[in-house]
Formats: sequence, C-alpha cells, structure tokens
Amino acid sequence: MRNDMVTRHIVQLFKKNAINVTDARVRITAIIYNAGKWISLAAILRAVNNEFDRTTVYRVLCMLCDNGFLNKLVDIEKISYYMFSDAGAGSDKKQVQDQHEHTYFKCMSCGSISPLPAHDTIIHLPEGFTKTSSNLLISGYCDHCAPTCN
Ligand SMILES: [Zn+2]
Repeated sequence: MRNDMVTRHIVQLFKKNAINVTDARVRITAIIYNAGKWISLAAILRAVNNEFDRTTVYRVLCMLCDNGFLNKLVDIEKISYYMFSDAGAGSDKKQVQDQHEHTYFKCMSCGSISPLPAHDTIIHLPEGFTKTSSNLLISGYCDHCAPTCN
C-alpha cells in the first residue's frame, strides 16, 4: 500500500473506533503497519527518529494495545515487540482472544519471530485456575539458522 493510503486506512480505523486522530498516533501506527511483521521497540524509536519523544511513543503504544490494534510480545531479554492487528480493532473479543493464544518462536540468529501451530502449544491449567492472557515466546534457532554438525 502507498503511504498516503496507509495513512487514510489508519485514520479510518481510528474514527471507526472513536479514537482521536493525532499526528503521533497515525505516524507511529503507520511505522508498525508498514513493518508487516514483529517490530521491536528500538526499531520503532529509530523509525520515529526524534519526531516524537519516548513518552509519546510509549503512550501511543499503550493506547494501541488497549484498543486491540497491536499484539505485544516480550522476549527473554525483556525486549518488547509489536505487530499491527487489523482484526483486533473493532472486531469481536473472541477473535482478538484467538490471536493472543499463539505461542511464538524467536530465532536468536536472524531475529525472526513466527507463530507456532496452536495445537502444539496448548497448556492445561490446574483446576480452579483462570487464564486472562498469555505471553509465550520460545527462543532458539530457526530452520534457516540452526547450527549444523558438519
Ligand atoms: Zn533464523
């Protein structure tokens, strides 16, 4: 999508969800949207390039997560990653829930983050326990980067 089309798309999404349209919100959302995959907080800050201060970026990310526009992951080194979620915004809670059910795999070599098949990652809680959210990330080497023995 061209940049002005991305902007228009985001503005429409905000309006549909009764979210105030501000420059910072649209720009930061566009950065994550255009990434098209998991993007780290550091990469977002680099892309923002001092156009907005850190506090503004954190506030916008918080707002986007709260409204279901972003999925968030935190890896073992406490680095946060975000991915835009069109489906989350304004759609029913079940669908949002399903998206959050994934377990992810992060490659320590190339940094790629990919969802694992849901049926491989079901965790059964003891009786009486209720899950409200989960954040599961497995680290290792992907099939391209796995060290070989020869
Ligand atoms: Zn890899």
